[in-house]
Amino acid sequence: MAWRCTGSTNAELIQNMAKAGIITSDRVVEAMTKVNRAHYVPHAYAAYEDSPQPIGHGATISAPHMHAYAAQNLLPFLKPGARVLDVGSGSGYLAAVFYHLLQDSADPKNAEGKVVGIEHIPELVEWSIENLRKDKLGSAVDEGKIKMIAGDGRKGSPKDGPFDVIHVGAAAPTLPAALVKQLARPGRMFIPVGTYMQQILQVDKDESGNVTEIPLLDVMYVPLTDRDKQV
Ligand code: SAH
Repeated sequence: MAWRCTGSTNAELIQNMAKAGIITSDRVVEAMTKVNRAHYVPHAYAAYEDSPQPIGHGATISAPHMHAYAAQNLLPFLKPGARVLDVGSGSGYLAAVFYHLLQDSADPKNAEGKVVGIEHIPELVEWSIENLRKDKLGSAVDEGKIKMIAGDGRKGSPKDGPFDVIHVGAAAPTLPAALVKQLARPGRMFIPVGTYMQQILQVDKDESGNVTEIPLLDVMYVPLTDRDKQV
């Protein structure tokens, strides 16, 4: 069970998720071990608890097991050179994990990929950049390899796309057409959809542009909404 994955250190938290079978790939273990969750939460004492934590402005950093589950699901598309969009990027935690997953350990120069985080609360965008800097990713931010922007994530960021991977960290009432359009061929989106009842959908676009939707699991995310409706 996911809540059992709490650790006393970051490494222990990740190892517990591997033991529980939530993380099955060494690449995900390696990437998540590099990202210290303590740099992305307001209360460091609870950093390694396997639970969500409020980050202000009506937002929450997702539970570690949900971040792990998303990274595992998107892994086949997280390759060196890939373009990734994280919608509702909040704390910046997942942008950091995705960035590490785009690196090529055999050839560190072979990493032209890019992670774009889009978040509609400007204060959170600023905070996420500070968090990434604390987590030794300041140069990736300065070089534009991780780009955190303020805006309505439902519209995506067409000028940075098309994206091999789109992760959405807030629940959309229906699948946003603009995001489907910005998926590369092939590409995969991981998105919670629904209002009261929400489900994660895996949305795959193939080489010919055919789109398929696979429901994965029932969840409870904060809504993907208008800025003035978020408390
Ligand atoms: N995945 C992030 C945050 C999850 S909370 C993390 O784990 O830290 C969901 C985030 O989506 C919140 O930060 C919220 O402000 C943001 N959000 C909600 N609606 C949005 C919209 N229309 N455009 C951009 N961001 C949005």
